[in-house]
Amino acid sequence: MSFELARSRIRCPLDLESPGKRSGNLALKYSDNANPLGVYPVPIMAIVGGPGPTTLLVAGVHGDEFEGPVALIELFQQLDPARVRGRLLFLPALNAPAVRASSRVSPLDGANLNRAFPGDRDGPPTAMLAHLVESVLMPGCDAVIDLHAGGKASFFTPCALAARTADGALSPANMALAEAFGAPAIWVLGRHNDDRSVNAAATRQNVPMIAAELGGNGAITPDILALARRGLRRCLAHLGHLDGMPLADCVSPRVVEIADAGHSLHAPGQGLLEPLVVAGDMVREGQLLARLYALDDPARPPVGIHAPTTGLVLAAGARGHVEHGDFLALVATELAG
Ligand SMILES: [Zn+2]
Repeated sequence: MSFELARSRIRCPLDLESPGKRSGNLALKYSDNANPLGVYPVPIMAIVGGPGPTTLLVAGVHGDEFEGPVALIELFQQLDPARVRGRLLFLPALNAPAVRASSRVSPLDGANLNRAFPGDRDGPPTAMLAHLVESVLMPGCDAVIDLHAGGKASFFTPCALAARTADGALSPANMALAEAFGAPAIWVLGRHNDDRSVNAAATRQNVPMIAAELGGNGAITPDILALARRGLRRCLAHLGHLDGMPLADCVSPRVVEIADAGHSLHAPGQGLLEPLVVAGDMVREGQLLARLYALDDPARPPVGIHAPTTGLVLAAGARGHVEHGDFLALVATELAG
């Protein structure tokens, strides 16, 4: 299926249709003081092989998450188009201005791309990128994979994220793709998922999709990057692009959800945070997770941060000094069966 690229203001100079392997840059035209008559380049690559499905591979939606961009660039370099069935589109740094600035949000308009869908063709740059993905690219795709991590502010235990859709139609395909990724956890996105995210866009466009969370702390963890490499190839095999790859090296994943908004913990005040658990730990309800020391009152005993439920510490904050309201931890509960 060809894409209606003219529907976007973002120009795509790359041939996405004919067989071969090629790379280039989308031209995001946004006239500001820094770049009044130029464009902001956004890297795009395509591998078009024999007949088969089309999969969109995305990373760099947040600009301080580097595992995904490296994994996608490496995968593109390694794949031989003669051995690929169908078409692979790579956007390894979708929010390229943010990636270049090591910033979660866009330095051009301050917006969070994963809160910008469905986007706007005529909007500011982040909205234009979201519109291109949801309204131009996704309708021509059979699957989407979007790689994230905790960024500078947090660290996630590696997991695949699969949306449980309201009508249930996409849920089995999303779960099967998440299982193929082979991470130790699958985070099922339910009613607490934000409808401005890439996952929500794929659900609206009726395209099977997983996201992944791959560590964080604003840097790359070698063993998690290795997991991402294997996971991507297994997903491409599952989708029919590559020959099969065994799941033998994978543990059976924990399937979890955020059952309550209160399972996302935030700092009750400013202070120095002493964590007692890390992402990936299992905790019991009421367990002491961290101590918060008041910098302006050293004689005051620390405030205890306790687990709101029994479950998996899906993510933990990466800041030693926290402000009131900063993210501390995400505790996910296991789904039965
Ligand atoms: Zn992210």
